[in-house]
Amino acid sequence: VARAKHGAARSPEPLVPLTGAELRGLQRRLLAWFRRNQRSLPWRGTRDHYRIWISEVMLQQTRVAAALRYYKKFLARFPNVGALARARTESVLEAWAGLGYYSRARNLHRAAREILRRHGGRFPRKPAVARELPGVGRYTAAAVLSIAYGEPLAVLDGNVARVLARLGAVRGRLREPSQWNALEDTAQTILFTSAPGTWNQAMMELGATVCTPRAPSCGRCPVAHFCQALALDCVEQIPEKPKRRAPVRVQLAAAVLLDSKGRTLLVQPKDNPRGVLFSRMWQFPAVEVAEDAETELRRHLHETYGLATAGLIALRPARHAVTFRDITLLPYLLPVVELPRGLRQAVKGKQSDGVGTGAVASVPLAEVERWPTSSATRKIARAAGAGGQPALPFPV
Ligand code: SF4
Repeated sequence: VARAKHGAARSPEPLVPLTGAELRGLQRRLLAWFRRNQRSLPWRGTRDHYRIWISEVMLQQTRVAAALRYYKKFLARFPNVGALARARTESVLEAWAGLGYYSRARNLHRAAREILRRHGGRFPRKPAVARELPGVGRYTAAAVLSIAYGEPLAVLDGNVARVLARLGAVRGRLREPSQWNALEDTAQTILFTSAPGTWNQAMMELGATVCTPRAPSCGRCPVAHFCQALALDCVEQIPEKPKRRAPVRVQLAAAVLLDSKGRTLLVQPKDNPRGVLFSRMWQFPAVEVAEDAETELRRHLHETYGLATAGLIALRPARHAVTFRDITLLPYLLPVVELPRGLRQAVKGKQSDGVGTGAVASVPLAEVERWPTSSATRKIARAAGAGGQPALPFPV
């Protein structure tokens, strides 16, 4: 236990203390394992800065299996930085639809324009310059520069941090800033500088496939020989689990207007008014409700959009979780002969809570999933029959 670390002051003492010979042994074993065992992924085996950058952004907050479904399609549509830079924002968001965290797509688009305008179409090679691009932090810069250009920069993401913490039996919260800094230093210290891109990918692959958060496969780990957590029998306690915030329960009532041609209305609020949890994305008119969902939704539609709403039909509720929020979605169908026209003009000067209503679009219900919408909006669309299921009234 003597080698287990507590606290996280940035100190010259490495979190994974290894002699020179041990470090070379660890590097040799990990790289040999990676050569034999790495998954075949479409962003591997390329040094194209654009393709690597896209993959790294997609893989943030998205699982590999999900990113795989989008990566090739995105590249087919925007095959290079120029094509991405020249695209309309709406097209980029549309290609991103389903991946979530749309700020990533907006940043990608803005960064592509900067790369084209200020850097001659090439991802900048200097870390400090790369990190000035929208959405490019220390991790993304290190990943792209090491893999595309062979720059000796170590990456630290959740997978690498977990591997390092277990190798050094590091206690404490890894995301705590001084601890994270110490892990960054450690990652840099053990970097295999002759092939930093391969090394970074090998560390991430080990964390993703062997040294997993739960039940790591220590029996087939190439670096088990060097692992302090294994030697001290405390693998399962590292990293320390963050304390969970108690979930906040929220009810959101949403109106799916539907005309005789199967078209519905989506809105894109300008600001973040009460109840709009997915700001700046296309969504059904919705409001957070407390008790009488139907009455509160009716009032919201009238006050915010000037809509008179007799005949709301309750549909089957759906659950949705966003970070610490546990949301119950209460969709209502509102059949109309014709969708209201000039809605934006109709509500000018009538903005409740001082909130602008933003843009409004009339869209075939069946095509809502192709718009830049959140998964909550797609759940509501499906409850209303967008996936081919008939919208059934739900008793409330
Ligand atoms: S031995 Fe187990 S805990 Fe240690 S690095 Fe390998 S997989 Fe992770």
